[in-house]
Amino acid sequence: MKAAQITKPDAACVVAVDIPDPDPGQVLIKVAAAGICGTDIHIYHGEYEATYPITPGHEFSGTVEAVGAGVTRFQAGDRVTADPNIPCYRCLPCQRNEFNQCESLSAIGVTQDGAFAEYVLAPEGNVFAIGDLDFSAAALVEPLACVVWGLKRVQIQPADSVLVLGAGPMGCLMLQAVRHSGAARVVVSDVNPQRLTLAEQLGAIPVVAGDNQAAALRALAPDGFHVVADATGIPRVLQSAFDYVRPRGKVWVFGVCPAGERAEFIPYDVFRKDLSIIGSFALNRTFPEAIALIQSGAVQVEPLISHRLPVEDFEQGLALAETAPDRMKVQFVF
Ligand SMILES: [Zn+2]
Ligand SMILES: [Zn+2]
Repeated sequence: MKAAQITKPDAACVVAVDIPDPDPGQVLIKVAAAGICGTDIHIYHGEYEATYPITPGHEFSGTVEAVGAGVTRFQAGDRVTADPNIPCYRCLPCQRNEFNQCESLSAIGVTQDGAFAEYVLAPEGNVFAIGDLDFSAAALVEPLACVVWGLKRVQIQPADSVLVLGAGPMGCLMLQAVRHSGAARVVVSDVNPQRLTLAEQLGAIPVVAGDNQAAALRALAPDGFHVVADATGIPRVLQSAFDYVRPRGKVWVFGVCPAGERAEFIPYDVFRKDLSIIGSFALNRTFPEAIALIQSGAVQVEPLISHRLPVEDFEQGLALAETAPDRMKVQFVF
């Protein structure tokens, strides 16, 4: 089969390898669609805890091709997606049901071969049926499941007003999921007018990031927002969340800032305003909710896909996902 590979940082290629055999308990999935995520770009540049050489790809969907011994819930032909995170089930965090905090978390597409290939393996317990959901849409279940996990941490309250910083694929998933969590109003800011237009179509009030941003946000929410979410992963943008959050409000740290980089806040303000700073990492058993949100139409994912290309164009896909001015979600389709 064809498989994209990153052999070492900044070295990408497409190779021919044997189709893997499913071990007992494993499901072999014929990949239909697989999206590129910021994590894949970090793996490409050697900025993430990956095992090289690696076939990345952790947001995917496809059809069951074969199952290993003991697999009972799936059979060849089933349409599925899979949670890429494989916890150890033995460490203390796992024993506390805190699977995303597992001390030896492995992940499809990060520590073992992923879905930028014609076939990928997943443990049966990680596989989810998608019914008649479109394959490209189902490849966005994983990022939406990360948003759902954050929502469980942040606890949007009825009629909250929410500011989402960043209108990329994650910001656009987030704004929709937040609206369906009971928020009265969702404002999204970004520097990219094309992305803002899309965010507006998906139900947000758009605000152009830049010189007039602070005034525009103040006009919309004079005493600040109940929740300010960073979906950019840019430290100075995250820092600006503290300018827009209201007393008793929450700052949701969602975007992945480069490891080790710092953002500043004023502890006195956090103290004086009863602020909460809430992080959310990856997902924690939130695939069923994400599938339901897409199946019901509550969250639209089709408009978020900007580029589709074959996996043979692996390097081009990575370049598009990193730099194309009109990029949203870039997917490999098979
Ligand atoms: Zn991802
Ligand atoms: Zn564990």
